[in-house]
Amino acid sequence: MYDKLLSPLDLGFTTLKNRVLMGSMHTMLEELDPTFERMAAFYAERARGQVGLIVTGGIGPNKQGLAMPIGEPFDHEEQCAKHKIVTDAVHQEGGKICMQILHVGRYGYTPENVSASATKAPISPFPARELSGDEVEQTIKDFVHCAELAQKAEYDGVEIMGSEGYLINQFIVSKTNKRTDEWGGSYENRIKLPIEIVRRTREAVGENFIIIYRLSMLDLVEGGSTWEEVVQLAKEIEKAGATIINTGIGWHEARVPTIGTIVPKGGFAWVTKRMMGEVNIPLIATNRINMPDVAEKILQDGCADMVSMARPFLADPELVLKSMEGRANEINTCIACNQACLDHTFTAQVCSCIVNPRACHETEINYLPTDQPKKIAVVGAGPAGLAASTIAAERGHHVDLFEGESEIGGQFNMAKVIPGKEEYAHSIRYYGEMIKKHNVNLHLNHRVSEQELAEGGYDEIIIATGVTPRQLDIEGIDHAKVLDYADVLYRNQEVGKRVAIIGAGGIGFDMAEYLSHDMEHESPTMNVEAYMKEWGVDMDYTRGGSLATAAQPLASPREVYLLKRSKGKHGKKLGKTTGWIHRSSLAMKKVNMLQEVTYKKVDDQGLHIHVNGKDEVLDVDHVVVCAGQVPLNTLHQSLTDKGIKAHLIGGAAEATELDAKKAIKEASYLVAAL
Ligand code: NAP
Ligand code: SF4
Repeated sequence: MYDKLLSPLDLGFTTLKNRVLMGSMHTMLEELDPTFERMAAFYAERARGQVGLIVTGGIGPNKQGLAMPIGEPFDHEEQCAKHKIVTDAVHQEGGKICMQILHVGRYGYTPENVSASATKAPISPFPARELSGDEVEQTIKDFVHCAELAQKAEYDGVEIMGSEGYLINQFIVSKTNKRTDEWGGSYENRIKLPIEIVRRTREAVGENFIIIYRLSMLDLVEGGSTWEEVVQLAKEIEKAGATIINTGIGWHEARVPTIGTIVPKGGFAWVTKRMMGEVNIPLIATNRINMPDVAEKILQDGCADMVSMARPFLADPELVLKSMEGRANEINTCIACNQACLDHTFTAQVCSCIVNPRACHETEINYLPTDQPKKIAVVGAGPAGLAASTIAAERGHHVDLFEGESEIGGQFNMAKVIPGKEEYAHSIRYYGEMIKKHNVNLHLNHRVSEQELAEGGYDEIIIATGVTPRQLDIEGIDHAKVLDYADVLYRNQEVGKRVAIIGAGGIGFDMAEYLSHDMEHESPTMNVEAYMKEWGVDMDYTRGGSLATAAQPLASPREVYLLKRSKGKHGKKLGKTTGWIHRSSLAMKKVNMLQEVTYKKVDDQGLHIHVNGKDEVLDVDHVVVCAGQVPLNTLHQSLTDKGIKAHLIGGAAEATELDAKKAIKEASYLVAAL
């Protein structure tokens, strides 16, 4: 079925069992797992899942190259033993693993930052100083030494990180390289650093060792490389001895989303396709490839020789195995939310995955078969209830899952209709499959009573009844103009041309995105050309960096006001790595963002507010309330009142922290121990 994807790739001295690379992800285990035992378990599970080649998270070749002051570079031989725990674990499972060598340059979160020149990255508070000529030489030696140590630790190869705006990229592009010595000036001088690193690494490690070079094929910053320059570098890297070229898309400081859920699936494969035929070594396509059908199409369309998926292996370590066994419908799909992976890395916490809390916690939580099957009732088929019921059933318990609505999914049913969040439907599909596979007894349209639960002979009762939108206490709140978010997103109520949204949390932002999108047009997330136009990417690569002269977003069909009572930037509490995307998107749609608003009343005239020291009336057709939620926990309360023990999880337990990540994690840890 996935003929190309599952076909081997012959590298001459070694063969990869299929065309799937598990791309590098910095999981923070590099810094926070002192023995590498957890890291070994994490990668071994992915190797067991049959991925063709794994690349580790970035490892610094020297102290200056570290992303943050914690952790250590791989620069002395005694550390090989620790790395060998990882390589042994992967090899025992029949896998192959390369170690990524990453020097972050000016992206470090440390006052010790260095770069090609003295500049400051917009995403680091610390300016960088310029490396001296001797230090550049030393940096090359450190890369080579690090690769030699990786070889001693029995990695199958290394990936040299030359993209995403890190040190090597900072040397290549003139906006960050203002040097006048042999490492600056002409393009030939600026690309000497990566070429020398690859050439000298090949000399040091010999022929039979994989060297992947991650090449920035699309910088997405002003003054980035031209296409001709990128091709020139690719050819030089091949000559210098690289085995494979992996694609890098966009510097981290680029203002075009490159991996968020808003990015179309396989949306950047066209970039790698441009490079096909320019070099004779295999090319890897990357970014937002999350399912085998997407990957297979990329290969069938001749865009690349191999595909890289990173986060999808957090969501499901068995992605390849399930593809091989015709079970792709059972894949727990990465929904590209970044909530438990990148947002964790950027806040120095160990990564995990919203839909798979076991990711990077394999030594801590396991769903082992039970030898004492219990009868379990789970009430509510939102994310918490779905995770609890399916994992409990997978372990061998007998599970009844009760849901008052006619479908499973809870809040995810609202997320999936937001343009750019269509992927949430995958999670609902996954849980639907798990319900069937593990024989969960699903009772839809069934508001289970306290009596049924009391008399059902259950050993355990889990209440995951979720939340209900918060009702506001302002004059005119029952006016026909007032809707809540569920009315709009779940019950499909029509919304007029002028609309005010009360509350600018996660759901307020989602609502603004929904209402400012013209539903006559396909969501740009579904169409690569439309997406590139919307975010200002020039697919003809007319200028260096491939940015268009201006973004061309679709106009909003409505005049939208996004209101909040508090002071400060809208969306401050959104995800660390995604908040800026939501803010930029709404700014492009010209959504009016008002802060420090007092809500006075709603009447036929519209929404009366006090803002900027004066009273105003927003003459709107509708007011949509997105002011958070309150828990739906009455069932739990009445069971407790009757002395019946029940577990309370998810939003029903704590609505103020309503959050799918917390809900699924709570459910998973609870039933892993039942
Ligand atoms: P939320 O993030 O708590 O935001 C609700 C907002 O409503 C508050 O920020 C508050 O803002 C306002 N509010 C609260 N009580 C109010 C009242 N009595 N009157 C008027 N305004 C009031 O809740 P949410 O937007 O419903 O999101 C719930 C959770 O879903 C979030 O915690 C998040 O984890 C998740 N989520 C995240 C995303 C995302 O990151 N993109 C998207 C959807 C959902 P002011 O006090 O400033 O007015
Ligand atoms: Fe994918 Fe979200 Fe899981 Fe990260 S947390 S791996 S983005 S589903």
